[in-house]
Amino acid sequence: MVLIQGKGVSKGVAAGPLYFYQRGGAEIVRTQIEDTEAELARFEEARQTAMTQLQELYEKALAEVGEESAALFEAHQMMLEDMDYVEGIQDVIGSGVNAEAAVMEVAEQFAEMLLAMDDEYMQGRAADVKDISTRVVGILSGAVAGGIDSEVPVILAADDLAPSETVQLDKSKILGFVTSGGSGNSHTAILARTMGIPAIIGVGEKLKEAYSGKDVIIDGETGEVAVEADEITSERLLKKQAKERALKELLDQLKGQPNITIDGKKVMVYCNIGSPDDLDAVLANDGGGVGLFRSEFLYLQNDTYPTEEQQFRAYKTAAERMGGKRVIIRTLDIGADKQADYFQLEKEENPAMGLRAIRICLTRPEVFKTQLRALYRASVYGKIAIMFPMITSVWEVREIKRICQAVQAELRAEEIPFDEQVELGIMIETPASVMMSDQLAKEVDFFSVGTNDLTQYTLAVDRQGNNLDRFFDAHHPAVLRMIKQAADNAHKAGIWLGICGELGADTSLTETFLAIGVDELSVSPSAVLPLRSVIRSIDTRKNSEEILANL
Ligand code: PEP
Ligand code: MG
Repeated sequence: MVLIQGKGVSKGVAAGPLYFYQRGGAEIVRTQIEDTEAELARFEEARQTAMTQLQELYEKALAEVGEESAALFEAHQMMLEDMDYVEGIQDVIGSGVNAEAAVMEVAEQFAEMLLAMDDEYMQGRAADVKDISTRVVGILSGAVAGGIDSEVPVILAADDLAPSETVQLDKSKILGFVTSGGSGNSHTAILARTMGIPAIIGVGEKLKEAYSGKDVIIDGETGEVAVEADEITSERLLKKQAKERALKELLDQLKGQPNITIDGKKVMVYCNIGSPDDLDAVLANDGGGVGLFRSEFLYLQNDTYPTEEQQFRAYKTAAERMGGKRVIIRTLDIGADKQADYFQLEKEENPAMGLRAIRICLTRPEVFKTQLRALYRASVYGKIAIMFPMITSVWEVREIKRICQAVQAELRAEEIPFDEQVELGIMIETPASVMMSDQLAKEVDFFSVGTNDLTQYTLAVDRQGNNLDRFFDAHHPAVLRMIKQAADNAHKAGIWLGICGELGADTSLTETFLAIGVDELSVSPSAVLPLRSVIRSIDTRKNSEEILANL
């Protein structure tokens, strides 16, 4: 047995074979081929596999986000059947070049040709040719780009995973995550918690590719990774897994019960999601609504801007499936660690403080308007609220509201129905927004505290930093006092305040949040019932005064 210690960032015990994440785009070596017939057959087989994959992606996209987005995969299939492209590759292979190099050579030629055209649409197709070619090369080299080429579910190992990589994974194939690097506050860790999948980060060099395929057991609470566990370890961890399952059954009995304290204070417990796929978990865990729909994941899943129609379908699905319960959709929060190449953002020295989130939306109003149109259109299908990230100033909120009004006027003129009462809220995740919360509260319908960024900016500690978790102390009194100040100002203005950062699920602080008067907690779906159980055990008359005096 090899026992590796990392940092647990998403609770739970999982057991299964270890599988190393295959990153597409590995360097391709050009080799001389003797048997060109066999190489041609290998290419053809990979091309057919790619066609099948694209068909599956088409069907998935059609069901989840609709025709317009699914059409991309159809277009990719057509390209893969394009005779000029296929014959071009066959010719290069025929001259004795290995299939991987032949595909990339022809892809480059096609991309160059398309880019040289005087037509923006055709220029845009260059990325598509590269995309399908990378897929074929990935299949040829056994590395299904970003995929998990395994029949059985696995414990996924990687050096680190970008949010855009994590969102594209087939979740049904993942029992757990283990990464060499990473931070507990990164979006990958957050995604693991949203999906309720055990995760461990920071295992360093000890995670070796040589362990690939070996049975491992991980404990997402303690951070243990046991490779080929001995009998004692295996028994201990599997016993813990059984206990967790039993506890889950017990918590299941709380479904349908209110989130109410002993002295009758009600709290809204909502869920954080990244895509409509997560709604099953929200409903299964009896979430009272969606407190944070991180809409940027729709952008990260795509290789170009998601269209209004595509977004509309995703938001409509969320609104409908939540059956009239509040669904707070946060507008695009791209930038910093969440990068999508097609935004072509300039490289920044300090991206966490750069052009991100609302700053991008206010700089590129056409991107913002497309999203707002989709949101307003979807608002008639349920109870949608819109929330804006990274606010620091009152002028930003006023400009946002002006843009919202312009979008509403457009829709009215086009006779497209929308809910006139859509609530607008802002995230409190910068110290400036806390300091200005008295004025900001007069502008909006609600506040939601993003403790991940609020901690980062208050303590000046990078939430992504590999060696900074010790300093990233969300329990720091400076953070808690910020929450209190924003809550007091919200209540003075008659609006509600929630917490949608990871701290909301920290049950060691639930009593403090209730003492502060937090009205809503938005947490990963798997945290709803444990939180409900804690809320129901609290009597706010007992300790609130003392807690507030010591803040
Ligand atoms: C936060 O900053 O706390 C938050 C909820 O937003 P994100 O983690 O997506 O930045
Ligand atoms: Mg944030």
